[in-house]
Amino acid sequence: MIIHRGGCHCGRVRFEVVAPARIEVDDCNCSLCSKTAYLHLIVPAERFKLLSGSEFLATYTFNTGTAKHLFCSVCGIKSFYVPRSHPDGFSVNARCLDAGTVEAMTVTQVNGREWEKQYPNGRGEYTS
Ligand SMILES: [Zn+2]
Repeated sequence: MIIHRGGCHCGRVRFEVVAPARIEVDDCNCSLCSKTAYLHLIVPAERFKLLSGSEFLATYTFNTGTAKHLFCSVCGIKSFYVPRSHPDGFSVNARCLDAGTVEAMTVTQVNGREWEKQYPNGRGEYTS
């Protein structure tokens, strides 16, 4: 496990996340993720730390309202959020990690478009 750092485009939102150097990420086909090409690195809450920018975060919700889609109100980038599949953790956008710490990335397709089928237990496991 190592520390990766990342953030939004304008640099106001900055975070660090503890994860392997070779990360496993999810590519979700739901109505929102497919429009932004978000790549999910999902971790338990204790492995994520917001370093700056909380005052600039805006929240978008839809459908069940469980997921808290957090984006920078200045530059519009969603660099992390609270996912419906892991409401007690965080999903970091692997595309928003700083260059230099990710050695490899394995992408798994997730069928968020049929969410209840993808997560029959009502939530996902932590795998990365
Ligand atoms: Zn920003």
